[in-house]
This record gives sequence, structure tokens and C-alpha cells, in this order.
Amino acid sequence: MNTANSSLASPDSTPLSTPLSSPISLPITTPVYTLYPGTRPLLVSLPHVGTLIPEAIKPQLVARALAAEDTDWHLEALYNFARGLGASLIVPRHSRYLIDLNRPPENTPMYAGANNTELCPTRFFTGEPLYRDDQAPDALAVQQRRAHWWQPYHDALTAELARLKAVHGHALLWDGHSIKSQLPWLFDGTLPDLNLGTANGSSCAPTLRTALMAVLAGQTDFSHITDGRFKGGYITRHYGRPLDGVHAVQLEMSWSSYMPEAPPWQPDPDRAARLAPVLRALLQTMLDWRPGA
Ligand SMILES: [Zn+2]
Repeated sequence: MNTANSSLASPDSTPLSTPLSSPISLPITTPVYTLYPGTRPLLVSLPHVGTLIPEAIKPQLVARALAAEDTDWHLEALYNFARGLGASLIVPRHSRYLIDLNRPPENTPMYAGANNTELCPTRFFTGEPLYRDDQAPDALAVQQRRAHWWQPYHDALTAELARLKAVHGHALLWDGHSIKSQLPWLFDGTLPDLNLGTANGSSCAPTLRTALMAVLAGQTDFSHITDGRFKGGYITRHYGRPLDGVHAVQLEMSWSSYMPEAPPWQPDPDRAARLAPVLRALLQTMLDWRPGA
């Protein structure tokens, strides 16, 4: 036993470098989500990473649905570095098949003229039914799911953005997503690797949008587009209020950016390692940006 080291753990030998000005906030864990409060003005939201399906709802679904194939796979791991940057992170537990946290509560279509998934989706991204015959949720069930799972996530987003704005003067929201690069039922052709969405420039300051686009343009490993097929869903459009000091962007990534697009949906370490510095540069650009820049 090294007695010299053990003496360092005594209460009167606390290192002087302890950051007393930035107290550590413990994660807030609820049945719906875990929120890791950070120390910087950025909140990372990953609304589609959940895979849980309540036992009471499983019998209504077709067997294939239980594997939750349309999950935004592995984003919690890919974005874990954000906490090290001081960002807040919110991670829901339940599958989008239960309710889609990135859809408006009144269930209006996000993308006019295209096939859309609903607040409580009834189809896989491939178009086949998620539910057994006559088992899809009725209006009352949708309302209950909204109260139990949708509302708490959005109450947390609202409160955390308000806290960040109160502390820092402005708040930044990064809504992270990923999806299979080819889904003919949802979109034509093959999706670019990195799809930045700013609701056509209305969800964040123009200088922030420009700075993020420069990061995408500055790398050659991944194809990219800004405000293409995916312009930002409900979370980006609802919370992005640049004139009120809240700047929101969405990044939709193709699965192929970091994993083979087939079961068992395991990440490809080499691809994920190439993607990591790009994600880090994007979030660092969010943090380096200043209002009025
Ligand atoms: Zn998503």
C-alpha cells in the first residue's frame, strides 16, 4: 500500500486546482429521460435514441417493431464527448414508436407534400404497419402518450434552455439525429452523410449557420447539405428563436456515416472515429460563437 498516496485523500489536502466556481450538477433521471446539466450555454438533445417499449403496448405491435429498427442508433455514445465540453445533454428512454418527441403535439405534418411519420407513428420508415390489425392507438391513447412521455421531455427542454439563457445570456440547442441513408417511402435517392437543418435559416443566427456550414465545407470525409430534405423538425423549429436568444440547429446523419445499415446495427469503429472530430468541431463552433458576431 502506498501511504503517501492515501494521505492525499485526507480532507485537508484538497488540491488547490479544484474548480470551486463550477459546482458539479448531478444527472436528473426520470422515467422519461436523463438530463445531464452542463456549465456552458449548449444543450444537446437526442430525441430518437430511446429503445424502450412499455410492456402494455408490446402486444399491439407487430413482432418486427420490438427491435425498434428506426432508432437513431448509437448517438448517445457518439455525442458523449459533449458533456466533456461542458454542454448539457438530454437522453430519452423510450422508442419513437411509442411517441415521436420531434413532432408537434397537435400532429401536423412536418414536411408538406411528402410521406410523414405521425406523432404516434403507425408505420415503419419502410412504410409497413407497426401495429397489428386495429391495434394502432386511438385519439385517447395518443393523448395519454403525449401526457406521459412527450410533455415531460419538452418541459425539460424548456426549463433547461431557460436556465442556460438565464446563466449565459443566450442558449444553444443541438438536436442530434441519424437515419438510414436510403428510405424510398420517406425520400428519394441517397441522403448526404451530414444534413444540417436550420429551418431555412430561421432557427439560429445567420452567423452561426455560416460558421457551422464552414465546418462541413472544411472536411472531405463526409458529404453534406444545409437545409436540404431535413431542415429541422419540431424541436429545432419550436425552440429556435434567435431574436429571443435561443439558437437551434438539427444534424441528421446517415447511418452509413458511422455504421453498416443492416442488423444488428452495430457501429463501425473506423467510420465512427472519422466522424468524431467533425462532430466535435461542430459543437465547439457552437460554443465559440457569440451573439452579435
Ligand atoms: Zn431522429
